Amino acid sequence: MRSDALAVLTKLRQAGFVAYFAGGCVRDQLFGLEPKDYDIATDATPRHIQEQFRKTQAVGAAFGVILVHQGQSAIEVATFRADSSYLDGRHPSAVRYATPQEDAFRRDFTVNGLFFDPLEERVIDFVGGQADLSARRLRAIGRADERFAEDHLRLLRAVRFASRFNLDIEPETAQAIGRHAGSLVRISPERIAEELRLILTPPTRVAAWPMLWEFGLLEPIFRFAPPPPEQKRAFDPARSVFLSVSSGETIGFALALAAASLCYQAHHLPLDADLRSLLSDPFIRKQVRAVRQALKTSNETTDQMQAILRGVGVLLQEAKPSVAQLKRFYSQPTAADAILILSALKQIGVQADRVDWLRERFGELQQMDCAPVPLVNGEDLLAAGLSPGPRFKHILHDVYDAQLENRVIEKSQAMELALKLAGGG
Ligand code: ATP
Ligand code: MG
Repeated sequence: MRSDALAVLTKLRQAGFVAYFAGGCVRDQLFGLEPKDYDIATDATPRHIQEQFRKTQAVGAAFGVILVHQGQSAIEVATFRADSSYLDGRHPSAVRYATPQEDAFRRDFTVNGLFFDPLEERVIDFVGGQADLSARRLRAIGRADERFAEDHLRLLRAVRFASRFNLDIEPETAQAIGRHAGSLVRISPERIAEELRLILTPPTRVAAWPMLWEFGLLEPIFRFAPPPPEQKRAFDPARSVFLSVSSGETIGFALALAAASLCYQAHHLPLDADLRSLLSDPFIRKQVRAVRQALKTSNETTDQMQAILRGVGVLLQEAKPSVAQLKRFYSQPTAADAILILSALKQIGVQADRVDWLRERFGELQQMDCAPVPLVNGEDLLAAGLSPGPRFKHILHDVYDAQLENRVIEKSQAMELALKLAGGG
């Protein structure tokens, strides 16, 4: 990757252009991390770039961005540019080609605004990024207020970079984020979702969550959800189920969203009774709908989120779940994620006895077939002369419960029960 990028850069330089590594790859390298991709900034225009390389793709020609295919890599080569006048808080209304310095100034944070000349092994720093990088500080380039006003997605990018690289957000930048947090609603749901996925799934989410909370970024994200039951409080890590979910591990987006929405509602999680109302079926549906509306997440993600929360809800209901409920839960693909939420709850001292009891049950279930083929199916009921209808489903459900609980073992017993249920209903 680096050698491919270096080849592209060297070719531009040999043709007489200025060309540097730019942005994320310079930052990653200075943090001692392997960049996941290399971007090149140059004074060559898109036409020049296309003339220099055989395999190119005009991905963002309007912005001066050309993708150059070199070796196994695709390297983004962008002409130095300045963005002018963001009218909508999302997109620059025009771009023009500009000096390297202007190109640095259009970038979001000082640690993202560096260039590197790999031929002379020299960092080119117009924004004070090196000092901030060594001090592990995230700072907006220029006037923070203006930068967040012109592009609201930077509000989430700030949290992403600060958490990912363990940076302190410099006070003026932090205050500006707090002031502009509400503007996040003007960013498209898809872009918010993509940033959130990057923020909430890696282990560094534990650093991001208090920031989202304290900057007031959760309110716009969860704006379609029922308002949390009580006044917002200072962030309390000891009470945060979100922080305890599978800490140190990368988790899926659906689990992250399930934990996040539960935690957003539950400022006072140790109140077990409140937790039950937050895990009731109607409430879960509201939460999931709110996430779908705000983030336009895929059905797959929201279905998983719903299944995770429902699983937790069934297991924590007032009465201990039945064997059939346990087996039905345990055979779902989302069971493992739901169990991670249960463990997190126990860790913060919520429902600890129930969670211990559940763990023992799960230990037993491991040796069992939790989803056996049903002894009786719809065709059996038809063959027995029952007419199809809404009651069919209930009968099959109840007979399957009996099977899961070993109350019926043979098909004949199961049929007997089915006919009894049909007659008695
Ligand atoms: P990652 O490793 O997550 O890709 P990155 O720094 O490469 O991080 P990108 O979103 O790929 O981030 O953007 C590349 C560079 O473009 C950034 O480093 C930054 O200089 C600039 N940039 C990207 N998005 C913005 C933005 N919304 N506002 C200003 N500059 C931006
Ligand atoms: Mg990048």
